[in-house]
Amino acid sequence: MQNNFLDNSLKSLNLKTPPIFDKEEQAKYVKDWREQYVGQAVAVLRPVNTKEVSSILKFAHKNKIDVVPQGGNTSLCGAATPDQSGKSIIISLEKMNNVRAFNKEAQTITVDSGMILSKIHEIVEEQNLFFPLSLGAQGSCMIGGNLSTNAGGVNVLKYGNTRELCLGLEIVLPDGKIMNLLSELKKDNTGYDLKNLFIGAEGTLGIITAATLKLFQLPKMITTLFVDADKISNAIKLLNVFTSHFPDRIESFELMPKSFWNIAKNNIDNIVMPLEKTPEMGILIDISSFSENEIIPDKNGQIPMIDTIENVLETCLESALISDATICKNESQKKSIWSIREAGAESEKKELQKSKLIKCLKHDISLPVASIESFHKDAQKMITNFLPNLKTIYFGHLGDGNLHYNVFGNGSLPDGFDGKSLELTDKLYEIVNKYNGSFSAEHGVGQLKKKSLEKHKDSVAYSLMKTIKKELDPKCIMNPGKVLF
Ligand SMILES: Cc1cc2nc3c(=O)[nH]c(=O)nc-3n(C[C@H](O)[C@H](O)[C@H](O)COP(=O)(O)OP(=O)(O)OC[C@H]3O[C@@H](n4cnc5c(N)ncnc54)[C@H](O)[C@@H]3O)c2cc1C
Repeated sequence: MQNNFLDNSLKSLNLKTPPIFDKEEQAKYVKDWREQYVGQAVAVLRPVNTKEVSSILKFAHKNKIDVVPQGGNTSLCGAATPDQSGKSIIISLEKMNNVRAFNKEAQTITVDSGMILSKIHEIVEEQNLFFPLSLGAQGSCMIGGNLSTNAGGVNVLKYGNTRELCLGLEIVLPDGKIMNLLSELKKDNTGYDLKNLFIGAEGTLGIITAATLKLFQLPKMITTLFVDADKISNAIKLLNVFTSHFPDRIESFELMPKSFWNIAKNNIDNIVMPLEKTPEMGILIDISSFSENEIIPDKNGQIPMIDTIENVLETCLESALISDATICKNESQKKSIWSIREAGAESEKKELQKSKLIKCLKHDISLPVASIESFHKDAQKMITNFLPNLKTIYFGHLGDGNLHYNVFGNGSLPDGFDGKSLELTDKLYEIVNKYNGSFSAEHGVGQLKKKSLEKHKDSVAYSLMKTIKKELDPKCIMNPGKVLF
């Protein structure tokens, strides 16, 4: 279709918000957060309701126009960036941000898919309720994007991934049909679980326009502590100690080793270090309290929960499981340390921008927790033998076995990896496979890991995924170049 004709056709859809055709205005929509992928688009459309999404998709389906759904555009694998052809339209959900229903008794909320995650937190916390999905990009990512990537974040250990937090969805299919699976029900065995097909589909099967989400009681208190476990084997033992002392109450168990701190110190202004020494194997832990008995100070002014945690830490220090620890005394200390953790991706991005010649290979992997130490040993051996002076920066959600295992290149080699970066990533994923892990834990596949999916996914499952995609989107208009085709 000629661009002029297409421009006019898009205008004639009469959307409440006009399409963006101007290239400068489009700039923020056509590149990814890491600025590793830059594409082009005919237009950015910003529907305000499900009916408008449906009419856009009907039009795109009829005229075989590629569509890239976009939420907050914070994908770390180029999943929401159009290709270079300049033939796609981007459908940004940013204008769809209403609360459709809020049922405090049932502890559910139904929102449009363009609602920013932190806005959901604000709305429900005003009513003493809690939506536990929490990640560094929460001020800009949107719930539709979170669902489409089945985002993880820092609270998975206790509450599960986004999939576990979703009761119902409204979806517009590639041909424009609206499928209403919005529901507050906890039980609904009426055939195939179609809702879950669209969660994690990265916009390749349709557009999520609304979701019903599960809410929880806001904990009465969260205690945040930071420890240095010195080595990975200790960190894993520590996870067991804490989960056995505080079953179902560990909200986060985040790994921040020395290599993480070195990058953070280089890139965060006025950083406040939590311990005297730079931690070798830092762990950031959040523990929730739901009972008044734990949080009301006793006659000596001591808070029973803090006493209990101090006793556990004392035992860990005595048995040399940790070498140092601190418990945050107030909200500002908590915020300070959490902001460092949440700036992990940002710090790496800045570090990379400083060393323009060097590339960094991002690996978002998950492993059975018990295999992490052996994986790390094998991976470091492989990386050291592969090329000299590569630097691994790893950190992540240790409680879920999810590591961001990123390898910075050697500045004196072409592209940092002598043209062998794909080979290195493949070798790393082979080690992940050896330990029954996954090469894609929480960020999704997008463009970055499309080839790895073909290579490492079970071949029967991969072929079934293709069959489903062809059946739902026979013209292959939905988010081309991502995940499968
Ligand atoms: C600083 C930072 C920290 C991060 N931390 C984490 C983390 O801890 N855990 C984690 O899991 N991720 C993390 N991410 C990655 C990212 O934030 C998540 O993947 C997030 O869920 C993406 O949401 P989004 O709205 O930005 O989606 P986008 O980036 O806009 O889109 C992501 C994918 O979803 C599709 N999509 C978006 N909206 C819809 C919709 N309504 N219907 C259908 N498809 C849609 C897009 O086509 C694309 O394939 C982080 C990113 C940054 C920048």
